[in-house]
Amino acid sequence: MEHVTRIVIIGGGPGGYEAALVAAQLGAEVTVVDRDGLGGSAVLTDCVPSKTLIATAEVMTTFDSSYEELGILVADGTPDAADPARVVGVDLGKVNRRVKRLAIAQSHDITQAVTRAGVTVLRGRGRLGAGGQGLDGSREVLVDHTDGRVESLRADAVLISTGVRPRELPDAQPDGERILTWTQVYDLEELPRELIVVGSGVTGAEFAGAYQALGSNVTLVSSRDRVLPGEDPDAAEVLEDVFRRRGMNVMSRSRAVTVKRISARTEVAEGPSSPKAGKEGGVGDRVEVALADGKVITGTHCLMAVGSIPNTTDLGLEEAGVAVNDWGQIKVDRVSRTSAPGVYAAGDCTGVFMLASVAAMQGRIAMYHALGDAVQPLNLKTVASNVFTDPEIATVGYTHADVSCGKMDAVEIKLPLRGNPRAKMQGIRDGFVKLFARPGTGIVVGGVVVAPRASELIHALSLAVDNNLTVEQVANTFTVYPSLSGSTAEAARQLHIRKREGAGS
Ligand SMILES: Cc1cc2nc3c(=O)[nH]c(=O)nc-3n(C[C@H](O)[C@H](O)[C@H](O)COP(=O)(O)OP(=O)(O)OC[C@H]3O[C@@H](n4cnc5c(N)ncnc54)[C@H](O)[C@@H]3O)c2cc1C
Repeated sequence: MEHVTRIVIIGGGPGGYEAALVAAQLGAEVTVVDRDGLGGSAVLTDCVPSKTLIATAEVMTTFDSSYEELGILVADGTPDAADPARVVGVDLGKVNRRVKRLAIAQSHDITQAVTRAGVTVLRGRGRLGAGGQGLDGSREVLVDHTDGRVESLRADAVLISTGVRPRELPDAQPDGERILTWTQVYDLEELPRELIVVGSGVTGAEFAGAYQALGSNVTLVSSRDRVLPGEDPDAAEVLEDVFRRRGMNVMSRSRAVTVKRISARTEVAEGPSSPKAGKEGGVGDRVEVALADGKVITGTHCLMAVGSIPNTTDLGLEEAGVAVNDWGQIKVDRVSRTSAPGVYAAGDCTGVFMLASVAAMQGRIAMYHALGDAVQPLNLKTVASNVFTDPEIATVGYTHADVSCGKMDAVEIKLPLRGNPRAKMQGIRDGFVKLFARPGTGIVVGGVVVAPRASELIHALSLAVDNNLTVEQVANTFTVYPSLSGSTAEAARQLHIRKREGAGS
């Protein structure tokens, strides 16, 4: 009889369920143990819900700029007299019901696909058994079922992909009503009138932009000099300018130390208000955020976006010999192996690059490796990522930081979108295309696109980076006229000319 490898996967997010599909395809006997539902946080609380909310926010932004820029008026006589730039409002309860419906449907679809592939799905908490490897090299995985039963499984290889959860500050405890984590916002029935977002990384920036577009008055508290400290500095500058222009209060170099609920009566300063947003008037109906410099700001709601904590405690890692770093993230190599033989890890719990696409790739790589298939080690230099703000910020390959610290020798060009004919027609004023290329060969090693739907436009640059294409090849590829992607070809053309001038001098 043919040998069948037993694979047990703890955690059914993109890292886990994509691995399960690959392992089943390769003929393994696969079990996925998940606590909350397949799709993981990516589908149930993080990626899918936030992008669904942002889909509504995007339409609102289009409407908001439609009057000034494109001359659109809605038929019943709006724009709003109190806010002439705003022509429509939003029913947040309805939006959130759609968000949750889509998330559950997506989780259901994934469960069906995985089950159809022959994978066994168990609902419960998984952990490594204490016994280490058996004589046959296998390991025990214990499953704590919701009804209290503990089931023991044996696996020839285990994949841990348990994800992360929102980090909470001791003096800013979320209550799910007014002080919220990003997983809790979808229970809101009414739009927060004055929302304070603490944290200006990708999650904070995405939610701040979305709620501002939906009609909240947003204050963004950033402990750093600018929003999106990890992104391209020119891109972050564009976004911060847009945020401020749209009325967001961006507080730089401001660290929140405590967040608590207060009632309107105890409040010292009243923030601005919008007639379209939620109502309050009771005890504890406001929040107060104290900053490290002594300033105090208040609002109706506070969203905490101050990073995440890996779900790696209570998994029996130490006993099994699985090493973690100081942040509790599981250490892995480029084929997702941990320090313990037969134990692999993928996704956010490894902290490698916290994206659904990377989690999925790490999970697949783990299975190719465990099951003896050909495997390409993970290459982070070709990962495309996107910040879903308006405008979006999409990035691939080497970055400005890599070039300025000398990690990559590259020339750089930035072409603003405002000169692009399609951008002019569509009323797009903000954004640019940036390219990084090797000085001698002109090989494209990185790029940034700041534009509406940059997430779609970056693909041309991803192809270039992934396939070592040169600026000439990008420049000489036809683009549609008029189109925003024309700017990608034009940037490459300018870099090509600059390269030739450099060569001649
Ligand atoms: C607000 C937000 C928006 C995001 N948007 C994007 C985006 O647009 N694009 C993108 O690429 N990435 C996005 N991300 C990141 C993306 O969500 C993560 O990279 C992705 O979820 C990682 O997948 P994973 O499989 O590692 O973990 P998860 O998706 O977190 O799944 C882990 C699963 O493991 C389960 N689990 C945990 N412990 C156990 C246990 N002991 N036993 C059994 N099950 C367990 C959890 O319940 C969960 O179901 C976003 C993140 C956030 C916070």
